[in-house]
Amino acid sequence: MENSKDNFSEWYTEIIDKAELSDRRYPIKGMNVWLPYGLKIMQNIDALIRREMDSRNFKEVSFPLLISREQLEVEFEHVRGFGDQLFWVTKGGSEPLDIELALRPTSESAMYPMFSLWIRTHADLPLRVYQIVNTFRYETKHTRPFIRVREIHFFEAHTAHATYDDAENQLKEYTDVFMKLCETMLISPIAHRRPDWDKFPGARYTIAFDAIMPSGRTLQIGTIHQYGDNFSRHYDIAYADEQGNRNLVSQTTYGMSERLIAALISIHGDNNGLILPPKFAPIQVVIVPIPPVDDIMRAYVEKVKSDLESYGFRVHVDDRDNYTPGYKYNDWEMRGVPVRFEIGNREVRDSSVTAVLRTGGKRKIPASDIGNALSALILEIEEKLREASSNMNSRFAMKCSKFEDLKKENTVSTAFWCGRKDCSDKIETDADKNCLGFVEGSAKSGKCIVCDEPGKEATFAKTY
Ligand SMILES: [Zn+2]
Repeated sequence: MENSKDNFSEWYTEIIDKAELSDRRYPIKGMNVWLPYGLKIMQNIDALIRREMDSRNFKEVSFPLLISREQLEVEFEHVRGFGDQLFWVTKGGSEPLDIELALRPTSESAMYPMFSLWIRTHADLPLRVYQIVNTFRYETKHTRPFIRVREIHFFEAHTAHATYDDAENQLKEYTDVFMKLCETMLISPIAHRRPDWDKFPGARYTIAFDAIMPSGRTLQIGTIHQYGDNFSRHYDIAYADEQGNRNLVSQTTYGMSERLIAALISIHGDNNGLILPPKFAPIQVVIVPIPPVDDIMRAYVEKVKSDLESYGFRVHVDDRDNYTPGYKYNDWEMRGVPVRFEIGNREVRDSSVTAVLRTGGKRKIPASDIGNALSALILEIEEKLREASSNMNSRFAMKCSKFEDLKKENTVSTAFWCGRKDCSDKIETDADKNCLGFVEGSAKSGKCIVCDEPGKEATFAKTY
């Protein structure tokens, strides 16, 4: 890598290009091409989410991409929130359309007219669906692959419940799902209840999960929303209870995007390139045969590969003739492959492999028990990455007791805050930090760092 991770922005762009995750040269701003390696990482994330949602009895659906102006304008607060971000389709061929169509920015207005038809009685509840589709938002700010794009790889879950309390419980389940995902990704974001002026358009409240990035800024990587009956009132989503009374449903949503990849590569990478958490790595172990390669070595490599595959590992043999082993080592390190097996004549002779861990360290392991040995190495790598990401969080986190502390650059500051916008505005203007909201689950209280009124623990940071 030419750029050190200390120059995060340059490092990030370089790794996207070099590791061939995304091609930024597509001629439409904010729309990039998913390259095979990047797409595979995303698919591994999606697969884990799918498994988790399916096991909790959510049903996967796929709604149309286009939403009519009529569907959209049902819920005004929601539409106002997205007004400037919509892409419109106004012509079919050369004919202007009678009904203008928008590309979905998110799918409330696509799904809820259908929910209104699907839900009749309490027996239809809870209704719980999700989809993984592309959404479109006309971003005017500077775009950046996986962080700010106009065509978004989007996961969205939508539910409808008989009572507000059931919807509250749903939010708890979302939190469990999200935290489990992050644990597998070996990162630990912070949950915040967004201030009212920053919640999702149409939501009663929003809880967002913010990852601390190596630049000291935070990246919102997941959100869950309590809608109450804000949407069901407008889309007429109601059910008949046991007495035959008509009640509006309470609704929730849960959203995530390819920002998960942005967090994954940024938090774990180093000056040599990517380091992929083993569960998401397209290649978990790369085998590099060391010349001279003869038929005996080829057969040995093949045997090791098939043994590993029988354990379910994703294995690749780099048998390219025209590159030196040294070149191959650097190349796979840059691409973040967690483990490399080097196999030369010595290894063939004593029936072993030399294992090199992407997080550091070299071991000789016997080929006889290769599957279990690799499992142990992977656990070791996961532990190292978990520790490193938690250390990074601590490095940027700063508890602030006086206003001057907030001004320290590249820190994610916690301070007591009263919840008023003018206090948060003052922090934004004078300390150049955004209010992420109250720390979810924190019971700590104290005087607001701006006005001295009673406050609760909140976070202020520069955001992406
Ligand atoms: Zn205040």
